[in-house]
Amino acid sequence: MIVMKFGGSSVADAERIRHVASIIKTYADKKPVVVLSAMGDTTDHLLEAADLAVTGKVDISRIEKLHKDTAEALEIPFTDAAALLGELKMVLTGISMLRELTKRTRDYLVSFGERLSVRMAAAYLNTIGLPARFYDAWDVGIVSDSNFMAAELLDDVWQTIPAALNGYRNGSVSEIPVVTGFIAKDPSGYITTLGRGGSDLTATVIGAAMAAEEVQTWKDVDGILTADPRVVSDAHPVPEVTYEEAAELAYFGAQVLHPRSMMPCRKSGTPVRVKNSYNMTSPGSIIVENHAGPVAAVRAITAVKHVTLIDIVSTRMLGASGFLAHIFNQFLKWNISIDVIATSEVSVSLTVNTKADLSGLLADVQKVAATECKTGKAIVTVICDTARASSIIADGFAALARERINVQMISKGASKVNISMICDDSEADTVVRTLHAAYFGKNGDTAK
Ligand code: ASP
Ligand code: MG
Repeated sequence: MIVMKFGGSSVADAERIRHVASIIKTYADKKPVVVLSAMGDTTDHLLEAADLAVTGKVDISRIEKLHKDTAEALEIPFTDAAALLGELKMVLTGISMLRELTKRTRDYLVSFGERLSVRMAAAYLNTIGLPARFYDAWDVGIVSDSNFMAAELLDDVWQTIPAALNGYRNGSVSEIPVVTGFIAKDPSGYITTLGRGGSDLTATVIGAAMAAEEVQTWKDVDGILTADPRVVSDAHPVPEVTYEEAAELAYFGAQVLHPRSMMPCRKSGTPVRVKNSYNMTSPGSIIVENHAGPVAAVRAITAVKHVTLIDIVSTRMLGASGFLAHIFNQFLKWNISIDVIATSEVSVSLTVNTKADLSGLLADVQKVAATECKTGKAIVTVICDTARASSIIADGFAALARERINVQMISKGASKVNISMICDDSEADTVVRTLHAAYFGKNGDTAK
């Protein structure tokens, strides 16, 4: 058994759905379970429709047209989708009358996107001779807590998913399951969502619970790349990364999988493969627990822009333990997440997202320390084997020195797979390009 997940852009219109169907067909003998996102930007459009309804207006024309046009082009019946669209309109009408939108109702509303796409795709698969059956997530055992808009899956899924899909596994059910990503139900039967991009998690939890051979997430690039191809023209796919490296990549700005979505497969040891739907023959990247053999020292380079660097220097003679404990407690109190950090006995430099409101935090911290905030910074992260840090840092910094770039802070991540540095936003692309050339370019030998 394998799990094949296709995101919104992969099922954006009739042509893309045809293409996805042809990909599924080539894997038909692998017992695929298909997980789909909503078509194109339907999730955004549903959220917009919800906001509009709060102002008293009901408009689903864009969503209706996309699905109707697609059904027509694919020559599939529209009855199932039409029934759902009718229900959607009723919900929006309700909101427009109440002028009130709870998180629970919002989740119910956005669920229509995925519920529509699986019905259309399953109908189409049937017309091309691939027997398929659509499932809403809860019909294959995807149950969550009631934290609407960011629900966590319940541990029950490890039993409920295999119970639901066992018939397909043992051959008594032959239709390919086409399952809604992103959505779930809580124990009271209310629809929840797993957070934006949550379809990856649906795919990985099904793959893990079913002990699938692998989970494939299909994208429109050749897997995980050594750098953002918009910044580095010769960025190339990385054949293999570990879960830990993939999680760090995702935290530090690469468009891989949501870090949370890696957890189920990591637990079960199920490999996750990132593949390119525009280039099927490319092997893509595989995410595994440990590298199979010797690998290059550097895996990839990422950048996150728009961060604020905060320098905090103790103004009291607190010991290091008391000082750091106190400072971190303030971050906890104000719920501000720290990304990169470097410390000394009585001072600490750290980065936070520029969007965070720091006023309360800074007022508290300033009771014991002097602070300085610098906005317009970027974090450049080298995902690598930090056991080889000396040569990685030597080569990278020699190249940066030649470019006369001085980074402002460096942190060798505790995860053993990242070295992060802070530079100005305006320098970030140059830093990434310079490091990429140093590690992967003609003369780059660190990576070999
Ligand atoms: N459709 C949802 C979103 O756009 C879930 C997903 O695509 O994974 O966030
Ligand atoms: Mg989407």
